Amino acid sequence: MINVENLHKSFGQVEVLKGIDLEVASGEVVAVIGPSGSGKSTFLRCLNLLETPTGGRIIFEGEVLNAKGANINKLRQKMGMVFQNFNLFPHKTVLENLTLTPMLVKGEKKESAEQRALGLLEKVGLKERAGAYPSQLSGGQKQRVAIARALAMNPDVMLFDEPTSALDPEMVGDVLQVMKDLAREGMTMVVVTHEMGFAREVADRVVFMDKGIVQEEGTPAQVFGSPQNERTQNFLSKVL
Ligand code: ADP
Ligand code: MG
Repeated sequence: MINVENLHKSFGQVEVLKGIDLEVASGEVVAVIGPSGSGKSTFLRCLNLLETPTGGRIIFEGEVLNAKGANINKLRQKMGMVFQNFNLFPHKTVLENLTLTPMLVKGEKKESAEQRALGLLEKVGLKERAGAYPSQLSGGQKQRVAIARALAMNPDVMLFDEPTSALDPEMVGDVLQVMKDLAREGMTMVVVTHEMGFAREVADRVVFMDKGIVQEEGTPAQVFGSPQNERTQNFLSKVL
């Protein structure tokens, strides 16, 4: 579904991504782990062109995303993104957060958008908060709304950038559970995370990034059980 070839990204003189290669198959859950500053967020943001790569190719569903003339908006609609800090529309209700973009971008009718939104809110356990504003929700609830909002666009792949990092510990489980359910339903997911338990349990593949490259990748058993790269070993010894 996604094929990343020799992806480079520089900010000015600073090269943050130094040639990333990665394939993500349909239905696969890929966990991206690695130290702070290693380029994980930049990588994820390049995947849906929130950042413009300075080199290499990103092929999504057979189309080169970062080619001139690519229909970026159409392709981006197929990629849901969930951020660390939720990024909900603060002056819209929970329901409106879910219906706004499908109505605006896809021209979906209000009634059907609302019906689908309520279904998604039920799925993340927040149907009864449809009329609330984001400020009235806990962090964990906000993040579950953010996931439902991304799903409201019917994406083919979901990108998560440390979705539980800004949450109080007691909120983390509910959000991870929603993500586990999604994975079980076959959603293709790329998840940058510090939750090693989640990566081990849910991911099909774990990718360890450091210093702007993929240092090591493999199944959770391989990467956590017998890491080959010294940097991976060092990182895991600090976080496990
Ligand atoms: P991670 O998510 O792994 O912590 P990031 O992708 O956020 O890493 O950042 C990698 C490096 O890129 C950091 O040194 C960061 O300061 C730099 N960086 C990220 N975004 C920008 C930007 N917009 N402008 C300049 N430098 C950036
Ligand atoms: Mg980051």
